[in-house]
Amino acid sequence: MRVRVLGSAAGGAFPQWNCGCPNCRRVRAKASGLTPRSQASLAVSGDGEHYFLLNVSPDIRSQIEAAPELHPRHARGSPISGAVITNGDLDACLGALCLRESEPLALFTTEVIRRGLVEGNTFFRTLARFDDHVRWHTLKPHAPEPLLTPAGEDSGLRVEAIPIPGKVPLHLAGIEAEHPQQNIGVLLRSPDSQSVLGFFPSVAGPSGELERAIAQTTCCFFDGTFWTDDELPALGLATRSAREMAHWPLSGLDGSLAWLASKSHTRRVLIHINNTNPILDEASDAHQRVLAAGIEIGTDGLELTL
Ligand SMILES: [Zn+2]
Repeated sequence: MRVRVLGSAAGGAFPQWNCGCPNCRRVRAKASGLTPRSQASLAVSGDGEHYFLLNVSPDIRSQIEAAPELHPRHARGSPISGAVITNGDLDACLGALCLRESEPLALFTTEVIRRGLVEGNTFFRTLARFDDHVRWHTLKPHAPEPLLTPAGEDSGLRVEAIPIPGKVPLHLAGIEAEHPQQNIGVLLRSPDSQSVLGFFPSVAGPSGELERAIAQTTCCFFDGTFWTDDELPALGLATRSAREMAHWPLSGLDGSLAWLASKSHTRRVLIHINNTNPILDEASDAHQRVLAAGIEIGTDGLELTL
């Protein structure tokens, strides 16, 4: 299985257009030890022919241009067969609407997430311009499904949805009820079943399902959004804490870093890192503490073979 990190930042990317936090100011000034990042997404392939995106960020156009394996191989067409969408947050799915140039796509997500994207949303009609423009595949919890191309060919990869503590997307608050399938992580099994990739970009906290899922992985991308629970309020940027935004902060005795440190059977890479997070500064104590725990900090363009 080939994996490329297309983007490693949380919503808003790094730097974020309307953010003048210390990290964003310093990365704009090209300070050493800070690297710009686009919004979180992976590209995966089991055969080197067909690629699937794990989430489709609003940065997808530039992410494709930065990834030679995703470039067209004919006058019209794309190696991108489709995408798996793990929640309805716009940084996770808005890019699907940017892939609107009449290319058939297979989209895999839960029924609850699909409904939130499509119902009441006239924009999504741009992906329904002809029969089978988008082929939706419903993921049910813990039920592995083949990742099929839009033509129904088996890519060899298997995807399994894992319900993960989370929340409804901001724009559906008060419209859609909280539901265990509003936020998922995924396990992707290689064609020979020897490798299992975990993708958990939004995790509100620990759970038994998460514990059992990560135990199966050989490599796992995990929510690295915030370092501290009060990260945004402390910077005067927002009133809500990390936990109130359904992101498990890394630091602290009950933080995700200590939990991840105990999962040494699997390669662990942080992704969906918010621009305020001190781990983005290579000279910071937080950055060094993550590395000392045996955990990697995702960067755009990182390539893995599992
Ligand atoms: Zn910022």
